[in-house]
Amino acid sequence: MAKEKKLVEAITSMEEDFAKWYTDVVIKAELIDYSSIRGCMIIRPYGYAIWENIQKHLDNKFKATGVENVYMPMFIPESLLEKEKDHVEGFAPEVAWVTHGGNEKLQERLCVRPTSETLFCDFYSNIIQSYRDLPKLYNQWCSVVRWEKTTRPFLRSVEFLWQEGHTAHATKEEANERTIQMLNVYADFCENVLAIPMIKGKKSDKEKFAGAEATYTIEALMHDGKALQSATSHDFGDGFAKAFDIQYTDKNNKLQYVYQTSWGMTTRIIGAVIMVHGDNSGLVLPPKIAPIQAMIIPINQTKEGVLEKAFELKDRLKDFKVKVDDSDKTPGWKFSEQEMRGIPIRIEIGPKDIKNNQAVIVRRDIREKIFVSLDEIEGKVAEILDKMQSDMLERARAHRDAHTYVAKNMEEFEHIINEKPGFIKAMWCMDEACETEIKEKTGATSRCMPFEQEHLDDHCVCCGKPAKVMAYWGKAY
Ligand code: AMP
Ligand code: ZN
Repeated sequence: MAKEKKLVEAITSMEEDFAKWYTDVVIKAELIDYSSIRGCMIIRPYGYAIWENIQKHLDNKFKATGVENVYMPMFIPESLLEKEKDHVEGFAPEVAWVTHGGNEKLQERLCVRPTSETLFCDFYSNIIQSYRDLPKLYNQWCSVVRWEKTTRPFLRSVEFLWQEGHTAHATKEEANERTIQMLNVYADFCENVLAIPMIKGKKSDKEKFAGAEATYTIEALMHDGKALQSATSHDFGDGFAKAFDIQYTDKNNKLQYVYQTSWGMTTRIIGAVIMVHGDNSGLVLPPKIAPIQAMIIPINQTKEGVLEKAFELKDRLKDFKVKVDDSDKTPGWKFSEQEMRGIPIRIEIGPKDIKNNQAVIVRRDIREKIFVSLDEIEGKVAEILDKMQSDMLERARAHRDAHTYVAKNMEEFEHIINEKPGFIKAMWCMDEACETEIKEKTGATSRCMPFEQEHLDDHCVCCGKPAKVMAYWGKAY
């Protein structure tokens, strides 16, 4: 049994060192491996299968709102990147440049896309002529590169996978509606599929996307009390249209600028799943996103009839993603592997169970053991997975709510930040000076100004002047 222990002992407990726990889990659950390129990770089959499931869910949701997929080049000529002033200023410090093709120096440098607004704008300026060409609702699944200084698997990598939606509309109202619509798609997906509750809101001017009129965000709270920006949706107004000259003739034959949006979710969200649901035995995956939903583990598998029964069970459970672990490892070892990989349930079946016409189902999250008659196993598995999915969301919500605090002055703010990490709700005058001061004093940034506002006080938490808005604050990944 010494071997059995090793797998679990090898991960640091989250109470001891959360950061170390996180990297232990991503490696031991075989989600990624480190590569020889700084900040770039190898996404292994199990990790990639989670991303594929995320893609499937989101892609269907996007398409249901009329979005079409395209693919754009991965390089952006320097002159194109420079067209929108704020945008290039925001991204210049973190772009990678291609300067040579083979042995020859390029006449113009090409940057590896950090995001593709400029490419889409250039394209839109060519294909949009009349009001009949609108709206344009394009999305691409690709990877982008941002030369990040400090990196963490999934959470912040130099190259990451994402989707980027880019839309063009005839009116300002329509563009704003689309921005919010896509934010809602993300938030619903996170809640209903990933079991992660989100705070929806608007970013401060300081935190908004380079070149955007407004940035909307969904923010989640991780198990250690730190916040994670989980997806963003940007309203560009007609700023990019003016910089790239994207005009159309309206019904009255007058030239008008288009209004644009962009929105993205990345492999970072896998980090959120790990840090919201994981525990000291490893990953815990919500059933709806798990590449394997149930692992059947035969007990005494060399005994006659056991393996046959296990595979028969797998066939009967064809509506679910099920595997049989028929390797020659001990059952205990198989249990800890199933736990490390966060497989939602395991189904144990051995000679005694077969005799009693039953199987034992163990839920990964609460380790509850449920004896189930083989006659009704399909229905029971569905029921248990459903219950686990909703319990996980409720548990994450309860954790977030229990770690959300109110601060009315800086003394309270600093006390909370130092003593009980979590979200802080506080009133704000909306002056950038206060935002900067809060960050300097506490390390917390403004996460968002939530759509669901509360009036906690009349005064700004920082300067005491009249407050304009309630904001969420916190230390963030
Ligand atoms: P942005 O284009 O800057 O609005 O970013 C889109 C989304 O990508 C945001 O939700 C960020 O949280 C996420 N993101 C930004 N940088 C990284 C990175 N280096 N690795 C993974 N995700 C990122
Ligand atoms: Zn203030």
